[in-house]
Amino acid sequence: MSFLKKLTETVSKGVSTATEKAQQTVEITKLHTQISGKRKDIERRFAQIGEAVFEAYLKKDLSLAEGMVIPECEAIAGIRKEIAGLEDRIRELRNEKECECGQTVPYDTKFCPSCGRKFPEPVPVPVEVLPQEENEAKEEEPQSVVVDVEVKRVCEGCGTVLQPEVRFCPDCGRPAEN
Ligand SMILES: [Zn+2]
Ligand SMILES: [Zn+2]
Repeated sequence: MSFLKKLTETVSKGVSTATEKAQQTVEITKLHTQISGKRKDIERRFAQIGEAVFEAYLKKDLSLAEGMVIPECEAIAGIRKEIAGLEDRIRELRNEKECECGQTVPYDTKFCPSCGRKFPEPVPVPVEVLPQEENEAKEEEPQSVVVDVEVKRVCEGCGTVLQPEVRFCPDCGRPAEN
């Protein structure tokens, strides 16, 4: 393959990745906007509930507020669910998921590094496989030899390199040694 062709391919690949990233950022921004709109809606409803309760208080009968307060509370509960769904979508776009303990971890993590909880097996996402046109494009990459002099914590169970803040191996769930 000519040098020029190779260069063009490399460039176009780079652009498509950058475009994807940009689209992802745009979508995440949109989701954040939707979330803050919904939060404002909730605040508005809270204020209305407060007013209704106060009016009822003035009339010395709090039950007068009930007819308004209950549907408003139900609406708020529904909006909160919508917000949770949007937050899930953001994590998905960022390729992350959230543990029940609140820790955000990469999507393919098997065990929470903070609390050790096992995640359900991730549902495989269908990946678009591009046909390999030219095998010659697969050039031998120079073997990069990683010389790491740092002493790293490694899981005794499976050998996974553990990050310093990790308390459980993210790959097998074994408690990490200190
Ligand atoms: Zn956790
Ligand atoms: Zn392990």
